[in-house]
Amino acid sequence: MEALNPFTMAQKQLAEAAAVMNLEPAVHDLLNNPLKEFHVRIPVRMDNGSIRIFQGFRVQYNHARGPTKGGIRFHPEETIDTVRALAAWMTWKCAVVDIPLGGGKGGVACDPRELSPGEQERLCRGYVRALGRVIGPDIDVPAPDVNSNPQFMAWMVDEYELIHGRHAPGVITGKPLPMGGSAGRTEATGRGGAYCIREAAKVVGIDPSKAVYAIQGYGNVGRGTHQMLTRLFKAKVVAVADEFGGVYREEGLDYTELSAYAVKNGTVNGFSGPGCKPFSNPELLALPVDILIPAALDGVIHAGNADKVSCRILAEMANGPTTPEADAILAKKNIFIIPDFLCNAGGVTVSYFEGVQNAYGYYWDAETVAARLDAKMTSAFHAVIETAARYKVSNRTGAYLIAVERVAEACKIRGWV
Ligand code: NAD
Repeated sequence: MEALNPFTMAQKQLAEAAAVMNLEPAVHDLLNNPLKEFHVRIPVRMDNGSIRIFQGFRVQYNHARGPTKGGIRFHPEETIDTVRALAAWMTWKCAVVDIPLGGGKGGVACDPRELSPGEQERLCRGYVRALGRVIGPDIDVPAPDVNSNPQFMAWMVDEYELIHGRHAPGVITGKPLPMGGSAGRTEATGRGGAYCIREAAKVVGIDPSKAVYAIQGYGNVGRGTHQMLTRLFKAKVVAVADEFGGVYREEGLDYTELSAYAVKNGTVNGFSGPGCKPFSNPELLALPVDILIPAALDGVIHAGNADKVSCRILAEMANGPTTPEADAILAKKNIFIIPDFLCNAGGVTVSYFEGVQNAYGYYWDAETVAARLDAKMTSAFHAVIETAARYKVSNRTGAYLIAVERVAEACKIRGWV
């Protein structure tokens, strides 16, 4: 079975597109690796008086189309290769939805849930002290991601402004509203995914309000997707699982009740009620549903379990949930994949809107944000499936063809290659 190195996965996906589009070797070489990366050691004073050193990363993959952009993950198993892969996918994501940003990503190897709020704050500030000279509204703009949240972003912006001695809300997106956050940012990733699902359902011939859904991962993205599917389609989500366990209910799980339980308990595991039964991750991935939504981590659908996946649409809300070997298996099963960097691009698109509003100093209402997001997602979705059909390739490779072409063009016009 293939090893699950996400960066190797990202490079394989790029190679597949490069072969279809006859990408020049020098351009392929340039796009195959990050332009810049930073490895930092972050000392943090713990509540008990000891000092703990955390490992941090920031990868600026490619800035040909604009400042690099990408979240900061706080995860105990964070590695430079995960961050490289995610930075590559951010590059393709910004390009496929055609926003003027490059791709970047950050990470800190830690589990913030084991840290007190004071330790979390000192770690966030330490990350910015280590990297404050190489990020900025015109350079590289972080945002929240796995295990980080708007409060973390607020501490980081504050530290950046202290270092630079000026107001700079655009240095980070996903901020709380009182610090220059955008209306609709919290739900943006889920909303963008729901728009893609709506369009994919038209292609496959499913009614999204009659479809049966399952969601793996119930953090920012999983919960946000459940919320938007409920709001837009009154969708029937029958199964949800996270790292601690899951729950199944044939009649559908109520978003308000389940999300309140998950926020309070840090998991959906143990959620009970009429008709609910405990459910595992392997059961969820194999459940016959219309729409399966991986919204947790990378590599969860792999050569060892792909043949059991039995949905009609795979809406990849997580980054990199499907390995290249699994892709080949799902293709044989005729499963319609909405590839990750298209399906979850709603978050970065509204992050971009947030940066625009920060630069303007003038803020839009939630309806304006939603309408502009819908326009971006819908046109990107159709461009991808039309390209995939034209070149007779998978939707994933179709998305790569569009994104790589745009980034390559910017690199060439700049005279880099
Ligand atoms: P999060 O930390 O808020 O939630 C992660 C969820 O995944 C949790 O419910 C966790 O329990 C679950 N999980 C972790 N390990 C698991 C495992 N082994 N099996 C099953 N479930 C597991 O993170 P998030 O922000 O919701 O991000 C989820 C995914 O979406 C990631 O791939 C992230 O890169 C991607 N993403 C996030 C954003 C964003 O705006 N937050 C945008 C685009 C893509």
